[in-house]
Amino acid sequence: MNKMTVRDIDLKGKKVIMRCDFNVPLDEARKITSDMRIKAAVPTIKYILEQKPAKLILMSHLGRPDGEVIEEDRLTPVGERLAQLLGEPVLKLDDCVGDIVKNSIAKCPGRVVLLENLRFHQGETKNDPGFAKQLAELADVYVNDAFGTAHRAHASTQGITRYLPSVAGFLLEKELQYLGEAVNNPTRPLVVILGGAKVSDKILLIENLLNKANSILIGGGMAYTFLKALGKNIGTSLLEADKVGVAKALIEKAKAKGVRLELSSDFVIVPDFDKPEQKRTVTEIPDGWMALDIGPQTIATFKEVLSTAKTVVWNGPLGVFEKEAYATGTLEIAKALAELTAKGVKTIIGGGDSASAVKKAKLSDKMTHISTGGGASLEFLEGKELPGVAALNDKKAG
Ligand code: AMP
Repeated sequence: MNKMTVRDIDLKGKKVIMRCDFNVPLDEARKITSDMRIKAAVPTIKYILEQKPAKLILMSHLGRPDGEVIEEDRLTPVGERLAQLLGEPVLKLDDCVGDIVKNSIAKCPGRVVLLENLRFHQGETKNDPGFAKQLAELADVYVNDAFGTAHRAHASTQGITRYLPSVAGFLLEKELQYLGEAVNNPTRPLVVILGGAKVSDKILLIENLLNKANSILIGGGMAYTFLKALGKNIGTSLLEADKVGVAKALIEKAKAKGVRLELSSDFVIVPDFDKPEQKRTVTEIPDGWMALDIGPQTIATFKEVLSTAKTVVWNGPLGVFEKEAYATGTLEIAKALAELTAKGVKTIIGGGDSASAVKKAKLSDKMTHISTGGGASLEFLEGKELPGVAALNDKKAG
């Protein structure tokens, strides 16, 4: 990675401000239901504290308060959990900029401060230079460890870097290493599995991966637009009629580039989404029926192609995995990947739904890397530069 990390900069005696992803799920009583994201930040936090900084100031967004103070979106529960995990006090403030914040940090007897939800200020998502400067004034060094928001040019991910030396934390570094290697310098063959609902969300991704992958397997809702492009009957399955032409062009491109493109070839169909008891497995979809999962023949073909892989990248579920009746294909592929990982294949799971599917299959610890960012990993795999990463200081040559 060509970006500086916390290892490349002297933090001793410095005030360090770090962007984290503490956007944790909360229940109605505002209790944290999964502290995974807080735990994920701990290695970088501990490393920084070992360097004896003057202060470590943490910041994050939570939910979508859209520039207003929403009591339910306060970061108070995060501060409490973080203090438990670190075994030391965390001073949680009620705002993230301004004189009161500055004074509170100056007077804080402990080492760790947590600012209030950044999105209580409109300046955060608007990347307002004044707001970014106010954040920067709190510290001497900026660390970004929030991969999940690195695709957004916000004040705390991009604007702030104009005013401070800016480096990556360990989480961000790990994401860039795994995702970067998988697409830019993969151990070949590279097999990509794509699913999810919409072709329109994945066109750029497929375009980019056609230049990188040896094989691409397409299942999930997006497969039906491709099947339609091949003249197949898809019944009432998900279709983006205005993308049939694009799908056709992508199929042609794959042929021209010698990339093996496999579409689902058998399907779990129902006459109605809410009638799973009537489900059938077919190779031809009759009129009036919709396909909601891949069938056993597709699972077998996908597994066969996967068995040739040295690197696998997976983005998007292969059926409506949220409903048990339509989850088999997605879970079987998750299991296949777990077995491949055990054989030394690098298995990289994009964030969002694919990560949830792997979690549902209880196989999260059996993959090489599961990205913490849905949108960010998608944009990275599309070959786009993430603004929050691009803005960090480059490593010095030599
Ligand atoms: P995306 O956000 O584009 O990755 O889409 C994820 C969603 O695609 C999940 O909520 C799945 O339920 C849905 N999905 C997967 N396969 C199908 C299918 N065959 N028909 C309809 N939706 C699907």
